[in-house]
Amino acid sequence: MANIDLNTLDAGMGSRFPLGRLHSLESMGTVDGPGIRFVVFVQGCPMRCAYCHNPDTWAINAGTRVSVEHIVELFENNRQFYRNGGITVSGGEPLLQPDFLAALFAEMHDRPRGRVHTCLDTSGYAFDPDHPERTAAVLDDCDLVLLDIKHADPERHRDLTGRGMERIVAFGDELARRGIETVIRHVVVPGYTDSTDECMRLGRLIGRWPNVVGLEMLPYHTMGVVKYEKLGIPYRLDDVPQMDKERIPELRAAVLRGMKEVRQAEQL
Ligand code: SF4
Repeated sequence: MANIDLNTLDAGMGSRFPLGRLHSLESMGTVDGPGIRFVVFVQGCPMRCAYCHNPDTWAINAGTRVSVEHIVELFENNRQFYRNGGITVSGGEPLLQPDFLAALFAEMHDRPRGRVHTCLDTSGYAFDPDHPERTAAVLDDCDLVLLDIKHADPERHRDLTGRGMERIVAFGDELARRGIETVIRHVVVPGYTDSTDECMRLGRLIGRWPNVVGLEMLPYHTMGVVKYEKLGIPYRLDDVPQMDKERIPELRAAVLRGMKEVRQAEQL
């Protein structure tokens, strides 16, 4: 894992594209998409997930301004490392900056030394189903989406994240309509998302999307708590223990059962 010093970034004067607001950069990412990846963590998020381990990405008008050209240059400097990987944009919430993101993905697909695989890690909440054109250019050049679904029950989703899940489901529908490969990510939190019922319900939700190619069940951990202390933000899950990893296979099987149920019903 290698972080890039943001003080070395070009502020983007004279860029042909809208500038991005950046939280941090990871030059050797191995968990956000296939292979070794250059990971761009953008600043700003409209959700408030109780377990978020990056509350420092929430503020929308913060972060470091950066140009598309500079990100491309940093990528190209180490291109050989990413030949089986590519670039991932994560956050924060990348879809809050659709013009920057669209320009970055288009540039990565159009590199003279070869097309670069692009991956978007998102909650989908910033997708507006009444204005899909706002994110269309991003999706036109997006090879893979890591779609984080926080809860399968609308009320409990709101309780866990502070937001409803309608836009997220609409975004999943849009990805399915476009046939964009999608990996579902689900953080498993004791007492919140660790019941068989909830997992089956998640399976029934995502089973409708034939473009889902993977499922990552991520056990809740408490490594981000220290950031809340530093930022002076109360941590809602203070009394929740880390997730027992031994239970993940059983819960993953419940999600898969829910998916199968829906897919079999569709074939009848
Ligand atoms: S969507 Fe991601 S960055 Fe935003 S609050 Fe939730 S976990 Fe944190």
